Amino acid sequence: METCLQCGKTLKGRQDKKFCDSYCRAAYHNNKRRSAENKLAEVNRALRRNWRILTTLNPQGKSTLRKTYLFEQGYNFNFFTNIYRTKKGKIYYFCYDMGITEVDSNHICIVNWQSYMEGFRHPLGKTAS
Ligand SMILES: [Zn+2]
Repeated sequence: METCLQCGKTLKGRQDKKFCDSYCRAAYHNNKRRSAENKLAEVNRALRRNWRILTTLNPQGKSTLRKTYLFEQGYNFNFFTNIYRTKKGKIYYFCYDMGITEVDSNHICIVNWQSYMEGFRHPLGKTAS
């Protein structure tokens, strides 16, 4: 027995029906879209929070801090907008124009985005041709 994807009522009529009526169909798709938008908003909030923390902690353009201090401020290391990798393999994780890199296992350094970083091409962006 097929049931409506929105309200769960048993469906009557055509075999391929998924909803009781157009109201349930619209409600279902609206909820789906809203939940996708909520996920985007959640990530955007995390990025904005990270950026605000870095901007506050890095007024001089370059600052070295204890990692624990960033955790205390609510920094989320899983969210960043782009990365920059130096020739020596050091990776900077950016939130917009503010980036962090590991100095040692307890410290990170915050830096501003530099124009020479524009030239970085992510390895996954390369093709075989
Ligand atoms: Zn329904």
